[in-house]
Amino acid sequence: MKKYQLILHIALKKELIIKALKIAFVVGIILNLINQGEHLLSLDMHNIHLTKLLFTFCVPFCVSMYTAITMKMKFKQDEIALVDANLRCENCNKRIFNTENAKIPKCDICGNKTSWIFIK
Ligand SMILES: [Zn+2]
Repeated sequence: MKKYQLILHIALKKELIIKALKIAFVVGIILNLINQGEHLLSLDMHNIHLTKLLFTFCVPFCVSMYTAITMKMKFKQDEIALVDANLRCENCNKRIFNTENAKIPKCDICGNKTSWIFIK
C-alpha cells in the first residue's frame, strides 16, 4: 500500500468523518458567530457572506481530519493497525510487517521507546 492509499483509507473511515463533522458543526457555529454574528443574529440576510459562512465550517473539518490522519499514520505501539503495513522503527530502522487489526508491537531492539513509521 502506498502512502496516498493509506491516507485515503484512513480519511474514508466513517468514525473519523463523523467526528470531524461534529467538530466542524460546533466550531463552525462559534466561528461564524464571532465573524458575522451581528448579521446572523439579526437575520440580516443581505449582509451575510454565504461563502465565508460555508468556509468557516470547512476549516475545522479539514483541521480535524488532518490531525486524525496524521495521528493514525504514526502507528503507535499497542494500538490496533487500520491496514496491513510495512513499518520501520524510527530509532533503529528495524522493519516489520503488521497486519490489519493486529496490535502494533514494541520494537524488540528499542523496547518501549518504539516509534513506527509507515513505509511502502
Ligand atoms: Zn527499534
